[in-house]
Amino acid sequence: MPTALITGITGQDGLYLAELLLAKGYDVHGVIRGQSNPRRELVERLVPDVRLHNVDLTDLSSLMRAMRDSEPDEVYNLGAVSFVAYSWENAFVTSDVTGLGVLNMLEAVRLHAGNDPASVRFYQASSSEMFGKVQEVPQNERTLLWPRSPYGVSKVYGHHMTINYRESYGMHASSGILFNHESPRRGEEFVTRKVSKGVAAIKLGRQDEIVMGNLDARRDWGFAGDYVEAMWLMLQQPEADDYVIATGETHSIEEMLSVAFGHVGISDWRPYVRQDAAFVRPAEVDHLVGDASKARRVLGWKPTVGFEELITGMVDADVAALEAGWR
Ligand code: GDP
Repeated sequence: MPTALITGITGQDGLYLAELLLAKGYDVHGVIRGQSNPRRELVERLVPDVRLHNVDLTDLSSLMRAMRDSEPDEVYNLGAVSFVAYSWENAFVTSDVTGLGVLNMLEAVRLHAGNDPASVRFYQASSSEMFGKVQEVPQNERTLLWPRSPYGVSKVYGHHMTINYRESYGMHASSGILFNHESPRRGEEFVTRKVSKGVAAIKLGRQDEIVMGNLDARRDWGFAGDYVEAMWLMLQQPEADDYVIATGETHSIEEMLSVAFGHVGISDWRPYVRQDAAFVRPAEVDHLVGDASKARRVLGWKPTVGFEELITGMVDADVAALEAGWR
């Protein structure tokens, strides 16, 4: 039975990946930060077979201990300070966790693997935010990186360090450049979930409006459940490499609002949406759309959930949760 260690187990991707690996028969370990992490209970409820280790990505010795105690064949580094807007207000902590945290992980894996550096396979969660002010459309693995936030800059550091460790030490270290991926488990600070939850609450008469930022931005939104499959596929390849994972379709925030409100029978969303400068970012990423043809060719990966299905599914999940009193 292979063993996997996942950082970022409390997040959307960590949970989907843990479910995927458990279904494949893996022994799954997760690392969790903080003395009384409020999301611990959620992890224990959703994936009770995952063994949890108390670790902080900024603390190399805690990572070394988790490596020793879990003896993983595969390590998935999904842990990060991941909200772009927050990263301007907390640039240092973002750099520490999202950037230097990757170096700590790579060092922990390298030191643990000893004489056989490729014996532990490593996945780094890189991000389409690295493309930022996009230098070509669509973006692929060779597109020049131009990050537009402390989060994006930190992810670029982690991405290049992963490549550098692969090239310097012969590690089996792969980097997945994942475009935005969403689900009913997405954090409520992200725009898709903010909209799905807001629309559900408006439908049920519990909220009057959604207050938002820039509605012109475009993203390539896929389903997180599809994207964790790509992570796993990368680590099953004989050679480590970098892959863009995306749907190849781009939609604006306005289109998303139209789909979400339309799904609950509201054809004109404008009276329900107010814009506020508080949600506008110091620098914006306007036109992300990925070219995932390499992943399709080499990994045989393709997305299964389209934009409308993704957004309407999230609205349905939030309506059900609000009605059941879960949230
Ligand atoms: P990101 O791509 O990781 O930054 O994902 P987000 O879901 O946080 O943001 C996606 C886009 O939605 C960005 O271009 C935001 O500027 C835009 N956006 C517009 N209004 C909002 C809002 O109220 N909240 C968030 N999170 N994003 C918003």
